[in-house]
Amino acid sequence: MSATADPAAARAAGTILCPDWLLADAGAAPEAGHAIRVVGENVDAVGPRDAIERSHPGDEVIELPDRIVLPGFVNAHVHMYGLLAHGIPQDEAPSGFWPFLQDYWWPKVEDGLDHEMIAAAANWACTEMLRSGTTTFLDILEAPNTLPGGLDAQAEAVAQCGLRGILSFEATERSGPEVANAGLDENVRFIESCRAAHRGPEESRPLVSGLVSIHTLFTCSDDFVLDAFHRAAELGVLVHAHCNEGVHEGEWCESHHGHRTLEHYDSLGVAGPNFLASQVVHLSDNERRILADRNVRCSHMPLANGEVGGGIAPIPELLEAGVTVGLGSDGYVNDIYEVMRCAFLIHKARLRDPGVMNAHQVLEMATTGGAEALDLDLVGRLAPGWSADLQVLDARFPTPVTAANLAEQVVLFRSAHHVESVMVGGSWRLRNGDVLAGDPDRQRARLQQQALRLWSSA
Ligand SMILES: [Zn+2]
Repeated sequence: MSATADPAAARAAGTILCPDWLLADAGAAPEAGHAIRVVGENVDAVGPRDAIERSHPGDEVIELPDRIVLPGFVNAHVHMYGLLAHGIPQDEAPSGFWPFLQDYWWPKVEDGLDHEMIAAAANWACTEMLRSGTTTFLDILEAPNTLPGGLDAQAEAVAQCGLRGILSFEATERSGPEVANAGLDENVRFIESCRAAHRGPEESRPLVSGLVSIHTLFTCSDDFVLDAFHRAAELGVLVHAHCNEGVHEGEWCESHHGHRTLEHYDSLGVAGPNFLASQVVHLSDNERRILADRNVRCSHMPLANGEVGGGIAPIPELLEAGVTVGLGSDGYVNDIYEVMRCAFLIHKARLRDPGVMNAHQVLEMATTGGAEALDLDLVGRLAPGWSADLQVLDARFPTPVTAANLAEQVVLFRSAHHVESVMVGGSWRLRNGDVLAGDPDRQRARLQQQALRLWSSA
């Protein structure tokens, strides 16, 4: 059965994609022989290809044999500047989460960043994300020496690649009150400038937008946290913070406030649907209850939690409790296929139960879960009226594909190199493996140069 959003749109010329399989919604069964019709920025119809083709004889029809079309991934948490630290020389690995921040990440990475470096990283990060099927992301920049204007330096690169990007500056008081306030100001100014710059028709959604980020409770005072939430509420955007990434923050809160991290956010009256808590690795039973009862949004970074020796977040338990969870790369391995594989496997090992975290749940976190975590409407699913953000994936598996096994085949046995084409907001951004805007070879050379600059100053 074919569903059409709007009779006026149905008369307009559109593009009909005809893959072998359409996985329009990560939580539902895939359909063989279904097509998807795209008009302008949005999906106009999905359903059996014959019916869609019959209804729209003037459309461009793109045959996609041996291919799956599925929603583009939402990377709910990335630090594009993190690319500059890949392979950075270190005398020895940090001895824990706190030394990781204090002795390595803050002085040797974040404090050394400038506009040229973060723009080069953003360019390459967008290329990497496109090549691995990601169409939407939230970036969190912490780079005190890029204030003001760091977000604009990144935004230019994002707009060039054509991804749907939410950019934020992670404000923190660790470098003093002036930098702290400049960080919040950067978010507010950027959000307002994105809104002012958006000149499309009313129904058109801007690709680049912003939200407010703060670091953690151990780097932000109560007044500062409340100021961030107040400013975000005035703008109608979320506040994002890293939450209990290692054991440090919960223990710090217990010794400074007499209760744990999420209990403290709750006591400040800000634990609610306007709060996006990333990481959520170390949670007491009461903190889990707070996340669920207050509808706090969460994001899960299993690979990066490994990198910092952080631990394994209780994600199956949070999903069971009804918490909205997206998946993120944390700027580490920015390939959601790898992140999905880790999320699929690591909770089975932790809980010694191969039945937890099925492939549909993982795909949902990578698509609709991420979009809901970022409070994005009409993103993450391919349905009439939703954004035409999709990827075309090679479906030539060595074993038969069925509606029952397709999700698991994708999560376990597909990788970035199987992503053939990517569309964002109805426009192709990657086609047959080629990034359509920008030159990846030049981007890579530029990032190499900027990484060397950072490494030599560290
Ligand atoms: Zn992070």
